[in-house]
Amino acid sequence: MKNEVKLRFGTVGSPQTTPGSGTVAAIEHTKQLGLHHLEIAWVQSVRVSDATCADIKAAAEKHGITLSVHAPYYINLNSQTDELMGKSDLRLLTAARKGFLAGARDIVFHPGSYHGQPPEQVYQRMRDKLIELTGILRDEGVDVILRPETMGKGAVFGTLEEVLQLSAEVEGVLPCIDWAHLHARTGNGTFNTYDEFAAALTRVREVLGEAGIQSLHNHMSGIAYTAKGEKEHLPLNEADLRYRDLLQAFVDHGVEGTVGIEAPEPFHTADCLTFQATYRRLLDLREMESA
Ligand SMILES: [Zn+2]
Repeated sequence: MKNEVKLRFGTVGSPQTTPGSGTVAAIEHTKQLGLHHLEIAWVQSVRVSDATCADIKAAAEKHGITLSVHAPYYINLNSQTDELMGKSDLRLLTAARKGFLAGARDIVFHPGSYHGQPPEQVYQRMRDKLIELTGILRDEGVDVILRPETMGKGAVFGTLEEVLQLSAEVEGVLPCIDWAHLHARTGNGTFNTYDEFAAALTRVREVLGEAGIQSLHNHMSGIAYTAKGEKEHLPLNEADLRYRDLLQAFVDHGVEGTVGIEAPEPFHTADCLTFQATYRRLLDLREMESA
């Protein structure tokens, strides 16, 4: 089935080249660009009416564009006061409820900070919190997957292993693997070879099975980093990320799902198209070899 799109590429946030503003315009432009996915960036706050959500959902269905939501940055499943925890819970729940109304199935979020506490202790708190929040959403009939993201700084919760374990332990939770973050997190330039990328995908398969590989949500971009990890996103042409090797590992492991591209202006749309074109070329090469 050559025409069946198994790995859907799109931008995180409206493609920078979108004429006009708003998510509906971004969906139409995504379609024109030949992309298949859009991650709605509700990263500051979620202020959208139910009517607008319905418009977004209708536009996405009309154009065959799948949607995910990037929830607000100010979420921390390890908040240190009841007041902050309540606000954090509400941000994630609101992103999920509104995202579901808008037709998004995957809700991506940054899980939070260790606050200097032992990672195992923080892990348990986050797991319990996710059991609670997924339970609330399930009771409301909000059918979404919460996707904690792998993070780019060692001081912040979000190793590959932590995110995979949460996904294995909590129903309704699956990973968002940000590959640039995993590369930056090491702080020393490692996690940037075919073998390391392939080993990570093998680990995904071990923990989440074939179903995990076939519904993987990913972020990709160039990235700058220091010994402490992520500094900022970079255009691909200024970054050291070996994205061709990364995508080759995706092809070889049969990864399916979505890839959201984060790149600074003016390279946002261009880098997304480059990732997609590179992936397709590697896929074609593999099909020619096996023909
Ligand atoms: Zn993110």
